Amino acid sequence: MALLEFTDKGIYCPQGDFYIDAWRPVPKVVITHAHSDHARAGSGSYLCHRLTKPLLQLRLGAEGSYETMEWGEPVFINGIRVSLHPAGHIIGSSQVRIEYQGEVWVVSGDYKTEDDGLSGAFEAVKCNVFITESTFGLPIYSWLPQPELFTTIRDWVSRNEAEGKTSVLIAYSLGKAQRLLSCLEPVTEKIFVHGAIWNVHQTLTDAGITLPAVERVLPDMPKDIFRGRVVIAPPSAEASPWMRRFNPYAIGICSGWMQVRGNIRRRNADAGFALSDHADWKGLIDAVTATGAEKVFVTHGFQATMARYLNEKGIWAAEIKTEYGEDEEGGGAAIEEEVAVAEKEAKRGASFDEKVPHSENEPQPGEHAQ
Ligand SMILES: [Zn+2]
Ligand SMILES: [Zn+2]
Repeated sequence: MALLEFTDKGIYCPQGDFYIDAWRPVPKVVITHAHSDHARAGSGSYLCHRLTKPLLQLRLGAEGSYETMEWGEPVFINGIRVSLHPAGHIIGSSQVRIEYQGEVWVVSGDYKTEDDGLSGAFEAVKCNVFITESTFGLPIYSWLPQPELFTTIRDWVSRNEAEGKTSVLIAYSLGKAQRLLSCLEPVTEKIFVHGAIWNVHQTLTDAGITLPAVERVLPDMPKDIFRGRVVIAPPSAEASPWMRRFNPYAIGICSGWMQVRGNIRRRNADAGFALSDHADWKGLIDAVTATGAEKVFVTHGFQATMARYLNEKGIWAAEIKTEYGEDEEGGGAAIEEEVAVAEKEAKRGASFDEKVPHSENEPQPGEHAQ
């Protein structure tokens, strides 16, 4: 019996009789992190990192059974030793290590290998079998170090301010929105945020996490107060009437997909910043190698490409179909399109300056959908 099995409800440990990041309701589930594709409602009991619990309560409801753990402090479930280790993805995000009779498997969840100063530094955990994500598992994905990327974002914000424009940064409400705060704090007096980001912010500060102060955008605020300032909003707000109050404004999208220029145009943005909470290609390969695993299963993302690459390197690897990878903000279709654009451009040999055709009812570059 394998220590973990891939079932239609999620990753299952038959010996321990629990699931990891199940996508259907199950009696007992261990949760890697609070993004919606990994933490779904309706399960009997949830086991997660201490800092993931308040986020689960925010998203799945305060009631329900939540048990917490600290990194590196094991619990035993039906004889299986279970421990959590930092994944570096978002606050509370953890890899799940399970051990039984000397055999060790690790489920990565989502991870990034660069320390963002907020989520805890990714820990390479030795194991026999590693189950890795592959969201950005194509060699074209290579991130700039965070300090360089932050400088680019700050310069853009300062330029907008000089032109009397509001800078609207589009970022996931859980993860990137918090990361951006320390980037923006030095260049602006006040950081405005959308209500969805405000809720996450309150939850995290209530849980004892120190974050730079933000101000929630309220309907009755006079338009002038946004002039030259910075606003952080989730992708769902991007093309909505909510944006009107910031006119004149410039939109900058913070997403790993923005490494591919076609996606900046397709999203009709003024700027794209390849800021990601996932590992880039090199990060993924380095992380897999560091585990020393003799067997690797590759899930959500470019699993075929990555599995093929690992096999060529002499590491046994196979792709596994899961239901993860739907965008954390519920924009599954949007992400699929971005993946398609990325794949197309990768095939074309990374000639990023070619035009990507716009569909007829899509707004043309330079004008905002309002
Ligand atoms: Zn995630
Ligand atoms: Zn994910």
